[in-house]
Amino acid sequence: MTSSIKYSLDERDIPRHWYNIVADLPSPPPPVLHPGTRQPIGPDDLAPIFPLAVIEQEVSQAREIEIPGPVRDVYRQWRPTPLYRARRLEQSLDTPARIYYKYEGTSPAGSHKPNTAIPQAFYNREEGVRRIATETGAGQWGSALAIAGAFFGVEVEVFMVKVSFQQKPYRRTFMESFGARCIASPSELTESGRTILREHPDSSGSLGIAISEAVERAVQRDDTKYALGSVLNHVLLHQTVIGQEALRQFEHADDYPDVVVGCTGGGSNFGGIAFPFLGARLRGGPATEFVAIEPAACPTLTKGLYAYDFGDTAHLTPLVKMHTLGSTFVPPGFHAGGLRYHGMAPLISHITQLGYIRPRAYQQLTCFEAGLQFARAEGILPAPEANHAVRGAIDEAIKCREEGISRCILFNLCGHGHFDMQAYRDYLDGRLVDQEYDESEIAMALAGLPSVA
Ligand SMILES: *Cc1c(COP(=O)(O)O)cnc(C)c1O
Repeated sequence: MTSSIKYSLDERDIPRHWYNIVADLPSPPPPVLHPGTRQPIGPDDLAPIFPLAVIEQEVSQAREIEIPGPVRDVYRQWRPTPLYRARRLEQSLDTPARIYYKYEGTSPAGSHKPNTAIPQAFYNREEGVRRIATETGAGQWGSALAIAGAFFGVEVEVFMVKVSFQQKPYRRTFMESFGARCIASPSELTESGRTILREHPDSSGSLGIAISEAVERAVQRDDTKYALGSVLNHVLLHQTVIGQEALRQFEHADDYPDVVVGCTGGGSNFGGIAFPFLGARLRGGPATEFVAIEPAACPTLTKGLYAYDFGDTAHLTPLVKMHTLGSTFVPPGFHAGGLRYHGMAPLISHITQLGYIRPRAYQQLTCFEAGLQFARAEGILPAPEANHAVRGAIDEAIKCREEGISRCILFNLCGHGHFDMQAYRDYLDGRLVDQEYDESEIAMALAGLPSVA
């Protein structure tokens, strides 16, 4: 039997800096606008909801930003994460392609999310914040922040999209085990939640609604700030530890990716693995390609408009220019909950506009099929979100077989699926179906985009 190859690194190889792609881009992303004045916002506008250190990172132009010692100390628990050459998968596909994956499921939360949860909790604690309010879709982000809050002694309050709250009771148990408070969203705790419930008493919730509730809590209370697990520049920045480690690991493998594949919900795990390689390309390195895979039921990059929009449903957040399906769009309840967001990271959107990212959308059945093929070859059951990246990588490898060429493919296995057994149960029982988004609903949501002069 062929064996897959693991490329480990030493603790010393944990990056000392996060990498800021903005420093190497040919043009900066468009400014973030104030929701009232529609003028570019300044740090003061964000101060009620984020700690200062995070705001500085959000607008930084510096190429490298130092990772604080206490954050690196916690990273050490699971970083560097392994890079694998998927030899058994290659064999099962009978492909000449070289397939590698970076495995982020070794973190205590089982996904890449702690890479940013840890520094965010750290900066909040440093600035004396007592409580962090946040949202969570599938539960991965809430789980990661719950752990980070416990480490740094900060209370965590999680608004969990109601459909996930009901479908994934163990996620709530996980968060509460670390002392976090978990609330089904929409809730009666906030004006945003109460407004939705008045109009839609049976609302199953959405990330956009949950974000409104968490932001509202932060705005209303002096001792509380808000944290976001994806989309924003500082989140993608923190995730670049993934790609920086992978660069080192490819030196050991004496190889280099021709194509990097990742799944995109808000864009953070994709940016995390892609940006260090894109930066190398922008500075004259190899012309690596970048493929972003999104769910066909929430096709932000492939079907959305590139326009200024709100990040949340109640329109409490600033306006960012991004690919969006409209902030009032509620995606159908497919199983990759982490990918059910109406918008996209402004950085990913901007870089897609610049032509460096090829986006593709896949239906969920073909992704679960790919996930199981991967699991049976490599022994790791991916998160439903990660199955999208697996599908993308397998398709690239099949193309190599058909064209008779050997390319080097890297994908991010951003998390394991151990909390998602119900999704696999449904798939194995034949109960999982492909879902179409409602075109008229997206058209309506897009018609409501804010006007920006
Ligand atoms: C949150 C999450 C995603 C989606 O978020 P991104 O910011 O696009 O990475 C994807 N996969 C997993 C495992 C997640 O936890």
